[in-house]
Amino acid sequence: MFAKVIIDVSSAELDRAFTYRIPAELMENIEVGTIVEIPFGKGNRPTKGFVVELTDHSDYDPALIKDISAVSTSLVGAEEQLVALAKWMGEEYGSTFLQALKTVIPVKTKVTPVERVTYTCQLTGPELTERINTCRRRHYTAKLKVYEAFFANPVITSEILSHSMGIEAAVMKPLVEKGEFTTEKERIFRTMALSTILDGRDKRNQLNDLQQSVLDGILGRMREGDLRPSYIHGITASGKTEVYMHLAEEVLARGQQVIMLIPEISLTFQTVMRFYGRFQGRVSFINSRLSKGERYDQYVQAREGKIDIMIGPRSALFTPFQNLGLIIMDEEHDQAYRSEQTPRYSAREVAEKRAKDLGALLVMGSATPSLSAYHNCSTGKYELYEMNRKAVEGSVPSEVSIIDMRDELHRGNRSMFSGLLQIRMQEALNAGQQIMLFYNRRGYAGFVSCRSCGFVFKCPHCDISLTAHRNGKLLCHYCGYEIPIPDTCPECGFPHISGFGAGTEKVEAAVHKAFPGVRTLIMDRDSTSRKNSMEAILKAFADHEADVLIGTQMIVKGHDFPDVTVMGILAADMSLFVSDYRSGEQTFSLLTQAAGRAGRGEHPGSVVIQTYDPDHYVIRSAAAQDYAGFYAQEAAYRRSRMYPPFGTLLEIIVLSEDPSQVLDAVRIITGFLEQNITRDESLLSLDNAPRGFQKADGKNQKNDDKAMRNLMKRKDVYRSSIYLKTVVRERAVELRSALCDSLMESRALGKNVYLQFDLQS
Ligand code: ADP
Ligand code: ZN
Repeated sequence: MFAKVIIDVSSAELDRAFTYRIPAELMENIEVGTIVEIPFGKGNRPTKGFVVELTDHSDYDPALIKDISAVSTSLVGAEEQLVALAKWMGEEYGSTFLQALKTVIPVKTKVTPVERVTYTCQLTGPELTERINTCRRRHYTAKLKVYEAFFANPVITSEILSHSMGIEAAVMKPLVEKGEFTTEKERIFRTMALSTILDGRDKRNQLNDLQQSVLDGILGRMREGDLRPSYIHGITASGKTEVYMHLAEEVLARGQQVIMLIPEISLTFQTVMRFYGRFQGRVSFINSRLSKGERYDQYVQAREGKIDIMIGPRSALFTPFQNLGLIIMDEEHDQAYRSEQTPRYSAREVAEKRAKDLGALLVMGSATPSLSAYHNCSTGKYELYEMNRKAVEGSVPSEVSIIDMRDELHRGNRSMFSGLLQIRMQEALNAGQQIMLFYNRRGYAGFVSCRSCGFVFKCPHCDISLTAHRNGKLLCHYCGYEIPIPDTCPECGFPHISGFGAGTEKVEAAVHKAFPGVRTLIMDRDSTSRKNSMEAILKAFADHEADVLIGTQMIVKGHDFPDVTVMGILAADMSLFVSDYRSGEQTFSLLTQAAGRAGRGEHPGSVVIQTYDPDHYVIRSAAAQDYAGFYAQEAAYRRSRMYPPFGTLLEIIVLSEDPSQVLDAVRIITGFLEQNITRDESLLSLDNAPRGFQKADGKNQKNDDKAMRNLMKRKDVYRSSIYLKTVVRERAVELRSALCDSLMESRALGKNVYLQFDLQS
């Protein structure tokens, strides 16, 4: 018996399977997907490889075929489908088989244990009551939570305190020192801890009529064997999650398993907790904070049938369930569903492929579907379900106002807040309600320059200006390079350096100035970079430890704060004119979701959208929560330019530390493509192409579809992109493959040039 093995050595030239003999003693342990150890190359170096095929015969001289030395790890069985999926991904998105395998197959590495502390309360009931009363009087919110928790249950472990109550060890430490609690420590694996943080609270809701009809529709089609993907287009709080949970119940009852994709765990923490509450020990999750080893453990549990629901970001798609019945993809429009690493796959497309191959159901949902997904609904490729009212009736729709900031300026209001927003904020503060302010840039000032010579501080590793932060540092938001803000200009020595533009920290300063004494929290990449800090911020805000939450797009996603009645969107057009043809779609989704944040509880909400372009269709339709209106305009624009979903765009990214090698490669690649494209296909460059947020009236339209070279530096690596536009997707895949073959054969590219491909349709 022989095995075809993909060698674990990164090289395009090794992108083919090598044949090895399976020794009799290993026969039982090797299947497709097994990772094996083999001798490789002239010196027979011990090397790892992935088994991708088993075969009885080989065309090679048997004397030359070497033996597999050992089995490295094996999650035997389920990987066969994943290996096939990886093969498809490599061919479709443009990567070696090895890169694709590494994306779908978890690799076993060592798992380091974490410490679990079990706290036992030493206080009597009356003592606890007295402390609870004192804490209430003095507003010791953190300690109050501790005493209340232990009042209900005298023994609690650290991970339950941390995950479900947001109480960290630092709060417990002084209380332990005072002798109020005793501790017992043990080393456990974090993945074991995951299953103990659930707290069976979520009650199963009876579906309303609309939800029931969506559920019946999806299940009915499934019973008839119609496995087309389903799409639930439902406004925020229309009850989509409730429908997902009922679908999951149905699928579990048939003995099948469920994958639930969400953009990132911490952004949808509440959803995760609801699934836990409902399904308890049958659920697990993976997130980007788990180590490789911990992730592997999760996969083994799934593989062995210990859990049946896996919740996680796009990589959860590759969970090796034995009998997968359902893939749910919540917040389908989210950009996190596209991988930035080779192979740059779209989780939606791969989910479609995996579901189809296994005969499983794929159900997507969003309030603001991606243009491509909605286009698929309109062509009948997906079955569309609309849910356009809130699940819980009685909540009043929010008042949405668009404010033209040019008018404010004319009226002499130079502050960051329009007159209306200031009034609404004051009303909310008076009523003890809460406010969210959305500003999509972190830091204090956008860029910093010398008042005298105009010198701008730039990152030495990236073509990007540095952002000022209130901690006195200048920071590169791309690579993390930081320096203290100098007192004088390094160019001319002039002592006045100042910042321009704004960021979340500047918004916070403006809030303190306009509303002295108001308590604020910031949620952005800076404030959430520490572990669990995002949950901590969300909890603090939910517990009314602050009146105003200021944040980047992190705050608009899926959080449910019943006491937030005002949402201020400070610079609604900020992301509208970035150089990407998807900027309109992304802005629409951010604004629509932001607008959905206010007035989630019993109080009516108000949303104030501040902009310099109040008539822009993206802003108008987002304010009116009018997806159909937005789609019509955006689709017309995309169709006219043949952008996805009406054409396919292949971005070819050329990378090298040597800029001249990038330029040479761009010339060679464009040369090849120009010779091979047909009349209705075209090449575009970074400079003139898929940028183009085009206004509805046709302004801002650039239309010279010729290849140009635009070089950028990021983290000391130079890059340039070439865009290939084709009518059908298969052509783009075919041309890319031909290009790679030709480059491999001619060896025309410089030694240190790397290519990446990004396929969009
Ligand atoms: P979405 O996922 O569309 O944002 P959710 O499923 O989270 O909506 O529902 C919004 C809120 O309404 C949640 O608090 C949920 O518990 C509640 N809810 C949903 N469906 C029902 C129902 N049928 N009966 C009562 N409450 C419901
Ligand atoms: Zn940098």
